[in-house]
Amino acid sequence: MNVTVLGSGTSVGVPTIGCHCPVCTSDDPRDRRLRPSVLVRWDGHAVLIDTTPDFRQQALAAHIERLDAVLITHAHADHIMGLDDVRPLNFRTPGPLPVYGSAGSIATIRRTFQYIFETGPTESSIPKIETRVFDGETALRIGGVDFVPIRLAHGSGTVYGFRFGEAAYLTDHSDIPPESREKLRNLDVLFLDALRYRPHPTHSTVQRSLETVEELKPRRAFFTHICHDLPHKETEAKLPTNVHLAYDGLVIHVGAPGGFRVFRSLAEVPSDFGPCALTIGNFDGVHAAHRSIMNRVAAIAHERGWRAAAMTFDPHPTAIVAPEKRPQLLTGIDRRTELMRQAGLDEVLVLPFTPEVARLSAERFIREIVTERLDARAVVVGHNFHFGRGAAGDTAMLHELGQFYGFEVEICPAVRYRRHVVGSTQVRQFITHGDMMNAWRMLQRPFALEGAVVPGAGIGRQQTVPTLNLSEQTGLVPLAGVYVTRTHDLDDGREWRSVSNVGVRPTFGGDRLSIETFLLSPFDGRTPERIRVEFLYRLRDERKFENADALKAQILRDAKRAERFLRLTERFL
Ligand SMILES: [Zn+2]
Ligand SMILES: [Zn+2]
Ligand SMILES: [Zn+2]
Repeated sequence: MNVTVLGSGTSVGVPTIGCHCPVCTSDDPRDRRLRPSVLVRWDGHAVLIDTTPDFRQQALAAHIERLDAVLITHAHADHIMGLDDVRPLNFRTPGPLPVYGSAGSIATIRRTFQYIFETGPTESSIPKIETRVFDGETALRIGGVDFVPIRLAHGSGTVYGFRFGEAAYLTDHSDIPPESREKLRNLDVLFLDALRYRPHPTHSTVQRSLETVEELKPRRAFFTHICHDLPHKETEAKLPTNVHLAYDGLVIHVGAPGGFRVFRSLAEVPSDFGPCALTIGNFDGVHAAHRSIMNRVAAIAHERGWRAAAMTFDPHPTAIVAPEKRPQLLTGIDRRTELMRQAGLDEVLVLPFTPEVARLSAERFIREIVTERLDARAVVVGHNFHFGRGAAGDTAMLHELGQFYGFEVEICPAVRYRRHVVGSTQVRQFITHGDMMNAWRMLQRPFALEGAVVPGAGIGRQQTVPTLNLSEQTGLVPLAGVYVTRTHDLDDGREWRSVSNVGVRPTFGGDRLSIETFLLSPFDGRTPERIRVEFLYRLRDERKFENADALKAQILRDAKRAERFLRLTERFL
């Protein structure tokens, strides 16, 4: 579900006629405020809240082509005077347009727009509407969504706000009665009246609405019905991070708080995917540079009320365009999307990288996928980003396409660690050389392998330490050798200090790569079934010992060194 702010201004609008104040003469488009109204859209449905005197202009800007219904909060002129402009929508929808309001609002509308309700022949075109009175308690069910009227005090009068799903829109009000507050718990988004700083007899103020937000604790709040006392940029800077000034054209995606979604194909992408701030890339390893890009995406998305999104590819594009150069991956796709969730993203599209996708020109890739399907309003990428057939598109081209299709472009500079530029290729190189500490620094977490615990050659039981063998790996594996590791049970969160051997176990005449982990403390309860092994530090090469006893003695020495290393480093983990 999306909510579009059609107007965020007070009854006279901003700029105000005849006023030369800094806000009324500001160049910032967010300081231009039409009269207050929002449009709620979901699954092809659209509900308009209030028909302001600016409705025609607002409908054109938001591309409104049809409406399921109009809800009226109250019948003040700034909320109803555009009602006549629904006429073009009548041409596009059969039957009259339902207009819901309280008994008082509907009576005022019928009086104000008397010509609409007169019976008898007329030569001019008049709106076809059907007024429906609500009792202020019962939810209005429209297109499968309940719109719950919320009773509010507007000076001495009673007006209504509406709750729909996890969003609520409370325009004009001076007070919210306690029984209405009860209906406003667990909101993702709350829109509410905040006229100005100075008190007003019939409107809430910035201070008062901040108190409301403090009490109701929505995930995000947007102030609306704003007068020319509040310059957008300066006011925004003074508000808490989850509270913003609404502005005309702002589109907010309403979702379950904390909801994270992964889509495995374009066909799965729902129509309400965006609007989003988007990053695009392989993101193998989700290392420090990837995370700084994702942090920017999340910051832009939260500031604008969009979704924070990423598009990544599976398989790695190189596997399709140059299979012989296909890299061994640091992270499988599930682990990668989980790390992207942790980096603050709301949704990820894993685009199956097929030969057809590889053939898309840079321009079509942006137009068809990035703007048309994902509704990206901002694209944030790394400095070395390339896209489209033959990787022909670069950041300069992205800037041009952004201007043409109307999305912002932000290029993140390289992130350096000592003399290295942080990158997946560099991390892979560290790991293939057994340099786990540098890999750890670039990833901002230890490199890890995970998988099922499989039966080993039975050697472990002859040792004195519990041994877990990791199932065969498809991605990158550290240089053969012995490592200080930490082992996590993926099913119940238990964890152990450990030492792991990557190699062919030459003492026992092995020839297949195995990853064998010796826990430094016994485990209580059942044997773990799925584990993650974090590689922290390489102790030594794998080598052949005379016999199992010599190996056992070496393992005990390894264990001692590992304990010492872990004591020193665990406080950083
Ligand atoms: Zn108003
Ligand atoms: Zn002014
Ligand atoms: Zn009012």
